Amino acid sequence: MLILMATTQISTNLAHIRERIQAAEEKAGRKALSVQLLAVSKFHPKEAVEAAIECGQKLFGENYVQEAAPKFAALQQAGHDIEFHFIGKLQRNKVHEAVRFSSTIQSVDRIELLCEIEKECAKLNKNINVFFEYATSDEDTKSGFTEKAKLWSALEACAEMKYVFAKGFMTMAPFTTDKNAIRKSFRTLREIQEEAKSKFPSLHLTELSMGMTNDFEIAIEEGSTLVRIGTAIFGERKRI
Ligand SMILES: *Cc1c(COP(=O)(O)O)cnc(C)c1O
Repeated sequence: MLILMATTQISTNLAHIRERIQAAEEKAGRKALSVQLLAVSKFHPKEAVEAAIECGQKLFGENYVQEAAPKFAALQQAGHDIEFHFIGKLQRNKVHEAVRFSSTIQSVDRIELLCEIEKECAKLNKNINVFFEYATSDEDTKSGFTEKAKLWSALEACAEMKYVFAKGFMTMAPFTTDKNAIRKSFRTLREIQEEAKSKFPSLHLTELSMGMTNDFEIAIEEGSTLVRIGTAIFGERKRI
């Protein structure tokens, strides 16, 4: 059973988050609207997503193919003008399904996955964007590339692909209240982006997906171009 928060609450939350993003952009001396908001709706029902759509939200993300596929296929079929990013750990045997309803896969963490995405997109004759996920903290629960050499190999392979377009990088900060550790993790991702840009000038590695409910303001200070926010919009995630 999924829990639905009152739709008026979702609308209030979204407005509040947009204000906070705008304030953070201003404080960091960044241009207005330079940070995109990805609404993370995992464990929340289709009606919650519809409430956010009513408030003008177009960009959504989720982690689980089994949950997201029926939800977003239904919303797209209903004619909603929305875009979906896949942000979770992706198994190779789920790529086939994930690429059908996603515009972007943010969680590419190994070259084998990248090759599978290219293969499935070729079958559909569909272009897709990818972000490379990097493990910027020492927490071993975090996913993503852990070695730069492997990341460079994947970027090199991506530069030759026909259907897959590299857009940038994604990370999750450590789960801690230590703001310095969080900032350090975001800074690491930015340094990786700088290094990658100089190594692969033909790729357009402009995006930095970093920042969630508890740390997005720090992420914006550190150069985030896309924040992924769930709890502050849709409420706590519970599974009954
Ligand atoms: C769940 C999730 C989010 C959203 O987290 P909140 O703390 O609820 O904002 C963002 N990114 C990823 C990769 C997630 O799994």
